[in-house]
Amino acid sequence: MTTTDPFSSNALQSTSFDAIVIGAGGAGLRAGLLLAEAGHKVAIVSKVFPTRSHTVAAQGGINAALGNVTPDNWQWHMYDTIKGSDYLGDQDAIEFMCEQASHIVRELEHFGVPFSRLENGKIYQRAFGGQSQNFGEKQAHRTCAAADRTGHAILHSLYQQNIRLGTTIFDEHYAIDLLHNDGGAINGVVTMNMQNSEYQILQSPHIMLATGGAGQVFRTNTNASINTGDGLGMVARAGYPLQDMEFWQFHPTGVAGKGMLISEAARGEGGVLRNAEGDAFMKKYAPNVKDLASRDVVSRAIAIEVNEGRGCGPNKDHVLLDLTHLDGDIIKKRLPGIRDISMTFVDIDPVEEPIPVFPTCHYMMGGIPTNINGEVLTQNAEGQSEVVQGLYAVGECACVSVHGANRLGGNSLLDIVVFGRQAAKVISEKLSDNPAQDLPQNQDSLHKVYTRIKNWYNASNRKHGSTDDDIYKIKHDLQRIMEQGCGVFRERESMQKALGALPAIEERLERVGLKDTSNIFNIERLAAFELENLVPIAYATIASALAREESRGAHSRIDFEERDDDNWLKHSLYFYQNRQLDFKAVNLQPKSHEPFEPKKRVY
Ligand SMILES: Cc1cc2nc3c(=O)[nH]c(=O)nc-3n(C[C@H](O)[C@H](O)[C@H](O)COP(=O)(O)OP(=O)(O)OC[C@H]3O[C@@H](n4cnc5c(N)ncnc54)[C@H](O)[C@@H]3O)c2cc1C
Repeated sequence: MTTTDPFSSNALQSTSFDAIVIGAGGAGLRAGLLLAEAGHKVAIVSKVFPTRSHTVAAQGGINAALGNVTPDNWQWHMYDTIKGSDYLGDQDAIEFMCEQASHIVRELEHFGVPFSRLENGKIYQRAFGGQSQNFGEKQAHRTCAAADRTGHAILHSLYQQNIRLGTTIFDEHYAIDLLHNDGGAINGVVTMNMQNSEYQILQSPHIMLATGGAGQVFRTNTNASINTGDGLGMVARAGYPLQDMEFWQFHPTGVAGKGMLISEAARGEGGVLRNAEGDAFMKKYAPNVKDLASRDVVSRAIAIEVNEGRGCGPNKDHVLLDLTHLDGDIIKKRLPGIRDISMTFVDIDPVEEPIPVFPTCHYMMGGIPTNINGEVLTQNAEGQSEVVQGLYAVGECACVSVHGANRLGGNSLLDIVVFGRQAAKVISEKLSDNPAQDLPQNQDSLHKVYTRIKNWYNASNRKHGSTDDDIYKIKHDLQRIMEQGCGVFRERESMQKALGALPAIEERLERVGLKDTSNIFNIERLAAFELENLVPIAYATIASALAREESRGAHSRIDFEERDDDNWLKHSLYFYQNRQLDFKAVNLQPKSHEPFEPKKRVY
């Protein structure tokens, strides 16, 4: 089959909407729902069928200080989140999120989320890492759960609510790049229908990115293969910064050697980590809360146990998560998904045997900088924060920042619903004042996307075979570079080596041919577009991590072991186009609550 030029016959068809949401995970669907309910013409674009978005994989639950199991209030939740963030989270944003949480969970219940129940009929809440009562005194139970399939329940309910309201959904449509008008305001996006490679322009004065995480930049990860940070790639190419990209959460309990997640809920229900000597080693690293210390602390503890020779298995390369002392019926009722994963991938029933685990890349704390209203921020010439007109980001792709240097379990499902809803509310208000109008796209911005698309068409015609390279090999090598150079522990030399290896990845990407020339579900071409998004993410991660000469939250430098608030209590901003790093202050001033001053973080 020969490849046809996608633009030779017709100009691209344009369709206009009041608002366009790119991404149909929890963040995108919550936003779409509010806009549809308010009567706006909204479109949601998703590269997979909505209920296959990564939100579906969220196991453990969503945090809210309902106080159903232990006494609780949102100020304690706020304190725990700020402490968990190692004081890098913006306190006004964290205050906003924690204050909204109880309302958000009740609203989800009314949308149909089948939360697990206590005997008295109230929503079940489990203990998760980093949760305390009364500002650190004792463990709280704050995570609302639907067994260990909470994300699945939330995503399906939100999808069904959107169907009820008739939201327009372009599923299996891939968003390639953003368009702007002559004044620089974002006002469109070029998409590709994956089923037949037809391209179109969707235009609107309000474009919201809800494209999820980018865990695929690391080799071992818990993320879906679609989590390639496409929104971040679009923003980086448009000349805007990525914030705090040095902070990646390594979840302590991935299935060893495979990466799939064994949720923190397993430890919340009483599971214990043991080394080769059978020792429950977390008491050494977090004497008070032991296995429920926050994720960065537990991941480092596991890495140290293995590095010091106390790892399990023939290669001494993992530790064990032991649930065998728990009631088998509790495991079957509260952790059915985890039992399933363990039995499927390592042939171990956790009721009878411990599960082999090792840290795996799980979550991106950094992302596209935004304010509380989801409006994307950049720096102006004077170094002040400035809103990018027409562009919004919510969910894991955004950095508000509520997670700072380390996210607490159960806070991401909360983040995506709170800020998805808030950004949509702000757009809806703007639309009431200023109804959407068709505004022409800047020709230069269109031309740039055309050039990118044509490049991959021509790549299908490049003689494959002159080189034995291919897209998947390049992606694999990028993931290996990241894992070796910028993993759980970091130091200057290995990061410099990793950064030095990235230009060769870019060169290979420029030369590589594509074998698949078809226009029907051309997954190889899609992988090429996705890989072009992972590259700026890799640059931003290593450059920001190399610059930050301290250890904070998930960013652990062996050559700078201490947190350094005098020099580094600030956010990093990486501009991919000119490969420059800038910084901005952390907001330590909540709106109504007293600020929480940075303290040493102990659990
Ligand atoms: C295994 C696992 C378990 C987790 N468990 C929990 C938990 O228990 N509690 C918790 O709080 N958090 C948990 N998290 C984190 C949390 O689930 C995610 O951070 C959150 O669901 C992300 O939601 P989102 O809406 O931002 O993105 P996603 O759900 O990832 O959705 C992204 C959407 O963007 C679309 N998209 C992306 N790129 C494009 C493109 N170029 N064009 C068109 N569409 C595009 C995709 O099709 C998809 O619809 C977990 C994460 C993982 C990986």
